[in-house]
Amino acid sequence: MKVWVETERLILRPLVPDDAEAVFRWGGDPAVNEYMIYPLYHRAEDVRAWLENRDPDDPDSYDEGIVLKSTGELIGSGGLVYRPERCAWEIGYNLRADQWGHGYTVEMLNALLDTIRKTRTVEAIDGVFAAENHKSRRVMEKFGMVWVRDTEYTKLDGSRTYAAKYYRRNFPQPPERCLICDRIGKIRRNENPYFVRELETGYVVIGDHQRFEGYTLLLCKEHATELSQLAPDLRSAFLRDMAITAEAVQNAFRPDKMNYELLGAGTGRHMHWHLFPRRVGDTPRPGPVWQVTDMNDPRYLPSPEKLAELREALGRELDRLLGKEE
Ligand SMILES: [Zn+2]
Repeated sequence: MKVWVETERLILRPLVPDDAEAVFRWGGDPAVNEYMIYPLYHRAEDVRAWLENRDPDDPDSYDEGIVLKSTGELIGSGGLVYRPERCAWEIGYNLRADQWGHGYTVEMLNALLDTIRKTRTVEAIDGVFAAENHKSRRVMEKFGMVWVRDTEYTKLDGSRTYAAKYYRRNFPQPPERCLICDRIGKIRRNENPYFVRELETGYVVIGDHQRFEGYTLLLCKEHATELSQLAPDLRSAFLRDMAITAEAVQNAFRPDKMNYELLGAGTGRHMHWHLFPRRVGDTPRPGPVWQVTDMNDPRYLPSPEKLAELREALGRELDRLLGKEE
C-alpha cells in the first residue's frame, strides 16, 4: 500500500524505481543478505526491474522504504505483509548495515502497525528468523513477540538452509469483533456476572444457558485461534487449566460423563473450551450436545440465585483443586 508515515526519526514511504541505486546498497550487500530468503543482487538494474514489477497498491502489503529524516537517505525497506492462511501479518525488513543497532526497525514496525490498524484488523503478527541471527531476535522481542516454536527455512536458490525461530504476537480484539475478548474485557472491569475464577491461562465462566446444568467455559487469555499458536509452556498450561476446570465441573455437578470441546468464536476465532457435564438421556439421541436445537432457549438462562449457586459450587471445587482451600 502507498503510505506516507512520519515517526520521530524516520519517514516511511513507497519504494519507486528510481530508488534502485539506494536499494542496491543493501540488496547487494552480502552481510545484509546473509539471512534473507532471496538471492543477493549483483546489479542495480536488477533491483530496478524488481521495483518496477511491484504492485504499489497491494492492500495486503505494507512494505515501505525507510528514509532517515536527519540525512534524507533511504536506508532500508520493510514492513508487514498479510498472510490470510495464518490470519497474521508477517514481518520482513532490510536495513543498510551501517544503520544497524539504532532501533530503526522497531520504530518502523510500530508506526506501520498503528497505520494498518486504522483500516485493517490485526489479530497477530508473526516472523521467522535464523536462530543464529541475534539482531532479528532482539527486534522481535522489542516488538512484543514471543517464541512459539523452532522451524527452518531455505534460501530461494536452495543454497542454504537455516535452523530458525518462529515468533508471534497475538492482539486482543475490539469487543465488536471478538465475543471472547468482549467477555474478557467485562471480567476485567468486574462486569461479567458469569465469571468464576481467573486461572493462569484463562478465565472460567458459567455458560450463559444451562440446558446442560453445570455447562462451563474456559476462555483463553490470548486472542489465538489454535493451540499451535501458543508457545509450548503456555499451551501445556492452558491444557492443564482446562483439565483442572473440567475436574472441578465434574466434582461440583456430578455428571455421568464430561464432554470437552475447543471452539473458536465468530470472526475473531478466539479459542475457548466448552465443558459440558452430560447425563444419560439429556439429548434425544446419544451423541454430542449440538444435536439439540433448544440449547440457547431463554428458559435455560439461570436465575440470579441459580447462577450464584453454580458459581459458588464450581469456585469452591476450583479452589480446592488449585490448593487454595483454607
Ligand atoms: Zn479475542
